[in-house]
Amino acid sequence: MKALKNYINGSWENSISTKYTFVHNPATQEIIAHVPHGPDTAKDVDKAVQYAQQAYLEWKDVPAMKRVQPLFKMKTLLENHMEEIAKLITTECGKTYTESLGEIQRAIENIEVACATYVLNQSEFSENIAPGIDEFMIRQPLGVCACITPFNFPGMIPFWFLPYAIATGNAFILKPSEKVPTTMQYVFDLIHKNIDLPKGLLSLVHGGKESVDALLQHPDIKAISFVGSTPIARYIYSEGAKYGKRVQAQGGAKNPIVIMPDADIEMTTKIITDSVYGCAGQRCLAASLIITVGDNKNIKDALVEAAKSRKVGYGLEDGIEMGPVISQESKTRIEGLIQKGIAEGANLLVDGTHKSVSGFTQGNFLHPTILENVPLNKEIISTEIFGPVMSLLNFKSMDDSIRFINSGRYGNMACIFTQDGLSARKFRSEAMAGNIGINVGVAAPVAQFPFSGWKESFFGDLHAQGRHGIEFYTQTKVVIERWPKTWSRTF
Ligand code: NAD
Repeated sequence: MKALKNYINGSWENSISTKYTFVHNPATQEIIAHVPHGPDTAKDVDKAVQYAQQAYLEWKDVPAMKRVQPLFKMKTLLENHMEEIAKLITTECGKTYTESLGEIQRAIENIEVACATYVLNQSEFSENIAPGIDEFMIRQPLGVCACITPFNFPGMIPFWFLPYAIATGNAFILKPSEKVPTTMQYVFDLIHKNIDLPKGLLSLVHGGKESVDALLQHPDIKAISFVGSTPIARYIYSEGAKYGKRVQAQGGAKNPIVIMPDADIEMTTKIITDSVYGCAGQRCLAASLIITVGDNKNIKDALVEAAKSRKVGYGLEDGIEMGPVISQESKTRIEGLIQKGIAEGANLLVDGTHKSVSGFTQGNFLHPTILENVPLNKEIISTEIFGPVMSLLNFKSMDDSIRFINSGRYGNMACIFTQDGLSARKFRSEAMAGNIGINVGVAAPVAQFPFSGWKESFFGDLHAQGRHGIEFYTQTKVVIERWPKTWSRTF
């Protein structure tokens, strides 16, 4: 069992805090690591920032083309160690091994896009904005930037930010979720052993609220990237602003999918089932509100059948399609929400509660669950369940569905399944969500596009990934230059 260390000034060191909490394997309850927490983790943050600031002053002047060279190595490193990293993700987070591999692939794609930073970051130049005067804009790094990540993608989400931050000339501090800290511990150790970076340029600090607050309040931290639940995202955004920082904060979701009467039943069922139950529903882009339009008998039967036949078990075993949820606490919360939905008038079409997995009776397992006819004015309809639960609704028309979607709090994703281009086009235009899927169940933008949450799914302006990432981690400087022709030359 490991007592996790912080990575500060290019080496591994014990936390100043003497308090530790446990990291569990959610399928077995085995304790896999001890992670520092408590008020003294704020001192770790302070130390990391001090070295990061020094590294930044050196790194910002390194030519942009040179700054991306370590990223090429980082890509190869992740590719070469994909299997070990995926096993770690499954062990601490619970998702299936295949899902973990997919997550690392998404991390690698972000590194690849960030490798083009020296092109994407090129400046704009206008000659002769007035006689003899030119104007141009350059992008300069911010300084020390920090990132706070959630439990559900321990291998991918840090790479929505890290590559862009350092490619643009910043120093970067990661505070991973205390529930899943071992994946990044391993990845940072790979980087430490294989890639030559200025000491302090990358730091890893552990902890919970205390270390987050220390990051928010530290005057030398210039930008905060956050991914997690909406209440904490809102807190990070307002606290960060209070301390004068640039903030991008991605929050929770309650994602709808509309199934039109002309949708292909077989394809739609497969894709939607994967969306709702993939990663045990613990994805910010998991569909949870499935809206049929018109007669829904056939699609309903197909969705029920697919839910019942999903293979639930330990993610490292072959053929498993869905792992456990992250903690006992989370399992109890999800079961409570299912009961609440029933109490509020929903019909329990498929019951995934109180079912164990052979050989893993201690695990936090839930099976796919479907609630039907959930009343639209009740809490369960707007609460993010973050578990393998589908709420099945039925509307008369697509317009009614869009009105319902647009009345919701969140705006992370909205999808439609149809064979009609005009319906798809109308939906794309009118649905108020930042990521739209047309016959796609998880509208996760690839790395060159921004991860565009709307409404209470995002607080800020510039999103993660691609050009948005580069813009977030740089500040613009405009230079206006005059060289009068009347000045005499000395040559
Ligand atoms: P969380 O908000 O509980 O934790 C996220 C991070 O915030 C962790 O690092 C944690 O240490 C820190 N934190 C927790 N409580 C805090 C507090 N009171 N003060 C300061 N920091 C605090 O989220 P989670 O449970 O780890 O992750 C699941 C949530 O993340 C879901 O709501 C999901 O939708 C969301 N999520 C969103 C996206 C997106 O792109 N929008 C992606 C992944 C996950």
